[in-house]
Amino acid sequence: MGKAEEVIRIAKKLDKMVNKKNTDGALNLLKELKDFPMSLETLQSTRIGMSVNAVRKQSSEEEVQALAKSLIKSWKKLLDSSESKVEEKKKESSGLPSPTKDNPETSDQSKVQAPKTPTTPKITTFPPPPVTTDNVRNKCRELLMTALQTDGDYIAIGVDCESLAAQIEDYIYKEFKCTDMKYKTRLRSRISNLKDQKNPELRKNVLCGNISAERIASMTAEEMASAELKEVRKALTKESIREHQLARTGGTQTDLFTCGKCKKKNCTYTQVQTRSADEPMTTFVVCNECGNRWKFC
Ligand SMILES: [Zn+2]
Repeated sequence: MGKAEEVIRIAKKLDKMVNKKNTDGALNLLKELKDFPMSLETLQSTRIGMSVNAVRKQSSEEEVQALAKSLIKSWKKLLDSSESKVEEKKKESSGLPSPTKDNPETSDQSKVQAPKTPTTPKITTFPPPPVTTDNVRNKCRELLMTALQTDGDYIAIGVDCESLAAQIEDYIYKEFKCTDMKYKTRLRSRISNLKDQKNPELRKNVLCGNISAERIASMTAEEMASAELKEVRKALTKESIREHQLARTGGTQTDLFTCGKCKKKNCTYTQVQTRSADEPMTTFVVCNECGNRWKFC
C-alpha cells in the first residue's frame, strides 16, 4: 500500500468518526499519522489536515485534541517552508485549517476557488466567523454543515464546510439579530435546498464560491430552485412578456370588457393565435384606465 493510500484510509476513518460524532479510537489513528513521514504532496492530495482538524473539534479527549493540534502545526510548517518557493503563495490557502484564530480580518482574500487541477487540490479556508456559545445557533451551523456535505462534493472541491456553514449562519443571524421563528425559517429553507438531491447545482455553486455565503444567506426560494425549475420559470416569464407586448401594441378599443380592477369599460383587446392554427384564438385584454391585463378565453 502506498503512502498516500494509507493516509487516505486514515482520513476516511476520521471523517466517519466525525460524521457519527463518535471519536473513539481517533487517538490511535492520530498516533499512526504522527509516525508517518508526511510529504507535502501527500498532505495536499489527501487533505488529511481537514480530517484531523474536524476530529480535534469533535473530540472531548484532551489527548486527541493535543495530538491533533501538534500534527496540524507540524504540517503547517511543511506547507509554510514550501510556500516561500511558490509565487502565488498569498492567493493560495495554507491547505490547513488554522487551529488558532490568528488571521482575524481577511474577508476579501479568501474567495472560494475550485481546484484547477485534480492532482493538487487546494483547500479553501474562510476567515474565522465569530464564535458563538448560543446553542440554537451552533445547532443550526451544524445542520448547515451537514447539508453542505451532502453527496461529498465538498471533498472534491476542497471546502471547509464547518467554516462556510458558520459564515452563512452568521449572515442570517446578523440580519435578524435573534434566533426567532424568522431566523429558523430562513435557516431551514437554506438547509433543505442545499440538501436537495434534485438541485446539486446550488450546493456546488455555494461550495465553489460562485454563490457567496452572504448571497446564499438571503436568497429567495425561487433563486435557490433547481436548474430544471428555472427553465420552466424562464419559459413562463417569456410567455408573459410576449402577452404583455402583444396587448401593448395595436389591438382594438372596446367597451365589451369590464376591468376587474377599476370596473371601467375602456379596454383594448388583441387576438392572437398562440399555438397551432386549429386551436381557438387567445384574447389579450388591457385596461386603458389602470393598465390591468388579463387573458380572455
Ligand atoms: Zn382597469
